[in-house]
Formats: sequence, structure tokens, C-alpha cells
Amino acid sequence: RAKSEGRRCYHFYTQELDAALQERMELDQAMRHALERGEFHLVYQPRVDLISGRVLSLEALVRWRHPVWGMVSPGRFIPLAEQTGFILTLGPEILRQACEQIHIWKARGIPTVPVAVNLSAREFRQPDVFERIMGALSTAGLEASDLEIEITESAAMSSVDQTIRTLTQLNDRGVCVSIDDFGTAYSSLNYLKRLPVHAIKIDQSFVSDMREDPAAHPEDAAIIRAIIGLGQTLGMTVIAEGIENQVQRDFLIEHGCPQGQGYLFSRPVPAGEVERLLGVGGVGG
Ligand code: C2E
Ligand code: MG
Ligand code: MG
Ligand code: MG
Repeated sequence: RAKSEGRRCYHFYTQELDAALQERMELDQAMRHALERGEFHLVYQPRVDLISGRVLSLEALVRWRHPVWGMVSPGRFIPLAEQTGFILTLGPEILRQACEQIHIWKARGIPTVPVAVNLSAREFRQPDVFERIMGALSTAGLEASDLEIEITESAAMSSVDQTIRTLTQLNDRGVCVSIDDFGTAYSSLNYLKRLPVHAIKIDQSFVSDMREDPAAHPEDAAIIRAIIGLGQTLGMTVIAEGIENQVQRDFLIEHGCPQGQGYLFSRPVPAGEVERLLGVGGVGG
């Protein structure tokens, strides 16, 4: 009996594997078509001064509206695109769309703030990533200060020499870089010290536990305080992610975190709503 059950388990296991593999292949195929059909677009979430609420910059986040499935979350398709290599096709399109949008805002005389684009690990490890970024800027007629880049902590911590080289090139040209999802990888602090980055972003998993009573989550609170202190010491701005309520905001302000983003201030919004967020929307426009 044990034997047949074992066999059955094995059978179910392979069936599940097949189904998962099948789904991934379907999703990968669909992504390639989606790009041709223009189903990817960007939304923008403000990063604000925590005390005044003033918008200091925007983060561009990709959205995929599939004609049948509806919205597909980037949390689902970006990791897959990263594995299959499709990100090397999608990434440049995201960068192009962001730069084009910034150009439109500037051309319309809107007092814009810098826009940060997320680069996945695989994109960032491309040998010509610096040239690609500068190329996207010049194609759209932008200045280096119009664009910022976000790379995750784990991406920043791999291929040390190449990371330092690319970050130095960007920094020399005036493109600011932030380390995303900070606190989720195992950075060597000695290495972090050597990275010419502008900001570190406290991962939202830590902020999320501050929602009701920060004192009830002393470990997360301590990590947040440590990251803020680290930023201050290393001369990097600190941006807290995923701020949903006033308790979280107050806690962060109390501990000296200068900037944040989250639903408390604004969800990511389509380009057309950004003007309103920046407080320059024309009446009846
Ligand atoms: P991320 O770069 O760390 O982006 C933050 C995520 O948190 C976004 O999810 C954002 O919508 C969400 N968020 C913002 N405020 C709040 C809040 O108050 N509460 C909660 N619960 N969530 C909040 P999104 O847009 O689904 O993106 C998820 C991840 O997918 C991003 O994490 C990033 O790693 C990746 N991603 C998104 N857009 C792009 C892109 O254009 N390129 C690349 N390479 N990756 C992207
Ligand atoms: Mg990000
Ligand atoms: Mg993040
Ligand atoms: Mg994330």
C-alpha cells in the first residue's frame, strides 16, 4: 500500500510540474505577443518628502493589460521574463516609454520631477547597460537628472566589479541610482560603502509590520532604524516603501527617515493623473 501511494504521489507531482511548466510557457508566449500588441504601459507612483508630503520624484512601474486575463501583476511576469531572457526585450521598451513620457511632460512645461525606472538584475548585468541608458536619454532629448535607476539589493550585490563600474559611470554622468528592496539580501556593509548610490529603499516587508503598533514588532523596527542610520552615515537618502497609514509615517518620521512612498500618499497612477499629483492640473483640462 505504501508503495502504491508513493507512486501516486510521484504521479501527482509530475502532473503539477507539467502544469506549472505549461503555464510558464504560455505566459512567456503571451508576453511576447503582448509587446507587439502594445499591452505594456507604465504607471507612476510618487516618492514624497515624509513630513511635507511634497512629491520629489516618481517611480515608473510596468503594467500589463491582457485582453482576456485583465491585469497581470509584474510580480508574476517580471521574474519569469527575467528567467526566460524576455526582460532583455521588455526592459528597453520600458526605458523608452519612461523617457518618452518625461519628454512629453517637459515639452508641455510641467515642472517635472525625476522618474525612476526599475532595472532587473539581468538587464543591469548587460555589458552595455550604461550605453543603453545614456542612449535612451539622448534619443528622448533628456538630461541625466531627468532619469533615475532602481536596482534591487541582490542585483547590486552580484558581480561586484561590474556593478561598481556601471554605478560609477552613471554617477559620473549624473544619473542617480537607488538600491531597491533593501534589507532583503545579505549585503556586505563594507561593499555597500563603496557603491556610489544616491538612495536606499527600505523594503516594504519591514514597513508593513509597523502598520498598527511598531512596538509589537521590535525586530522590524530595529532593522528600519538601522537602515535609516546606515543611510545617514553613508550619505545616502533613505526611502521607505509601502507606507499605507499614518502610524507607519509617524514612526518613520520619528526615526529620521526623509522620504517614502505608499498608498497613504498615492497608488501608482497613469501618466494622465501625474499632473494632478504635481499640483499643476489645469482646470477642466
Ligand atoms: P518594487 O520596485 O519594489 O515596487 C514596489 C511595489 O510596491 C510596486 O508593486 C508598488 O505598486 C507596490 N506598492 C507601492 N506602495 C504600496 C503600498 O503602500 N502597499 C503595498 N502593499 N504595495 C505598495 P508592483 O507595481 O506590483 O511591482 C512589483 C515589483 O515588480 C516591483 O517591486 C519591481 O521589482 C517589479 N517591477 C515593476 N515594474 C517594473 C519594471 O518596469 N521593470 C522591472 N525590471 N521590474 C519592475
Ligand atoms: Mg522599485
Ligand atoms: Mg521595492
Ligand atoms: Mg519589490
